Amino acid sequence: MSTGKGNADCPAEAISGTSVDMGKCISCGYCAPAFLPDGNPKTSVVRSTERKFRRSFHIYLFDAGSCGSCNLEVKALENPYYDLSRLGISFCATPKHADAILVVGVLALGMREPLIKAIEALPSPRLVFAVGVCAISGGILGKSIKEVVEADVMIPGCPPNPFTILHALQRSREGRS
Ligand code: SF4
Ligand code: SF4
Repeated sequence: MSTGKGNADCPAEAISGTSVDMGKCISCGYCAPAFLPDGNPKTSVVRSTERKFRRSFHIYLFDAGSCGSCNLEVKALENPYYDLSRLGISFCATPKHADAILVVGVLALGMREPLIKAIEALPSPRLVFAVGVCAISGGILGKSIKEVVEADVMIPGCPPNPFTILHALQRSREGRS
């Protein structure tokens, strides 16, 4: 196990000085109470501020090599508590019909080509989301999806809270950073 900087043994090397890189933090809690992230749901980063999606917004979930938890949190958006459809956002079964692709998991070797093909199948304009630290930074074991595509939106967490995902979806479709 590698050692992070700062006052804690961070297995993800997420601590630098007094700050925590949320794109790497796997929420293991080893650093508590010195650095423990506060669970703030407004931690996503939206790079594209162009308002491209004024009406309905269709999303496609792509698993590049996840443990399954990020998928569960994304799919939880459909349940009555989060009720994604009230915002005009819905899942679709093919990237050909999607405005955005939500990629979860590390970039597994066998998923590189399918990910490239899925992104190419999205009509333009499109958004690419990296959901969870595995997709953003590769987590502690794998490779980031950065090897294939630069994400427009990054949603930290291991796994991210559904409210964090919802907040990022709303901001990005409205072109808010
Ligand atoms: S909670 Fe995050 S920052 Fe703290 S040790 Fe674990 S991975 Fe590192
Ligand atoms: S970020 Fe965490 S929850 Fe999501 S796929 Fe990776 S290990 Fe699983």
